[in-house]
Amino acid sequence: MLVDSHCHLEMLPNPVQGDYRAYLQQAEAMGVTTFLSVSVELKTFPDVLRGAEQFPCVYASVGAHPCELEDSPAVDRLLTHAQHPKVVAVGETGLDYFHIKEAGDITTQQQQFRNHIRAARELQKPLIIHMRDATLDTLRILREERAQEVGGVMHCYTEDWDTAQAAMDLGFLISFSGIVTFKSATVLRDVALRMPLDQMLVETDCPYLAPVPHRGKPNQPAYVRHVAEFIAQLRELPFETVAQQTTQNFARLFRVAP
Ligand SMILES: [Zn+2]
Ligand SMILES: [Zn+2]
Repeated sequence: MLVDSHCHLEMLPNPVQGDYRAYLQQAEAMGVTTFLSVSVELKTFPDVLRGAEQFPCVYASVGAHPCELEDSPAVDRLLTHAQHPKVVAVGETGLDYFHIKEAGDITTQQQQFRNHIRAARELQKPLIIHMRDATLDTLRILREERAQEVGGVMHCYTEDWDTAQAAMDLGFLISFSGIVTFKSATVLRDVALRMPLDQMLVETDCPYLAPVPHRGKPNQPAYVRHVAEFIAQLRELPFETVAQQTTQNFARLFRVAP
């Protein structure tokens, strides 16, 4: 049993009217049985929710990615959408200074990020955090807005050990994507090797970032298996141990049945 803790099912190529059955069947054949379909903007949130309504094994989050600034959701809109029983988290939210286009974007991203944390605290639901080239501001805003009251996950983690430790101190789990399998990811592998297993999640972030041996091709939830296998090898543990522990961690954080 294995969980893909972060995927974008509605973005996968050619799902027939939101029917992800083929992808979920392929995943199941690889032992991947639970999925968190993560929202990136409120405009496409109904598509995310449709998948979660259709399949008991698919959960959903509500939020707007830091690069989606056109439709910055106010706190009350997030609260309304989060009432659905399959919505288990708020996000993905956070800061992404890599993709800044205009000077005002940073201010808008930060405001949007704060709104998500406020909504999550109000709802008592965990946060899904996207952080790129914005480590210090992300950690600062998490602290200022008291995100530790709800915790969450640093998704698609790509940073060093000190940052991981700071995030774990705030009650955030660390989630590894296919990036950990890339040759160049030595700093990241060090984190995957040293961190406590009971704070770890695995994800695909599909359709992006396919792990080795599928690097460069479209990613899909089944491939989270390669991420977990890679970490098991790295830590010299049986695959089952990594699968079981990350599944338990997922159930604990998002308060769902494993
Ligand atoms: Zn992301
Ligand atoms: Zn994502």
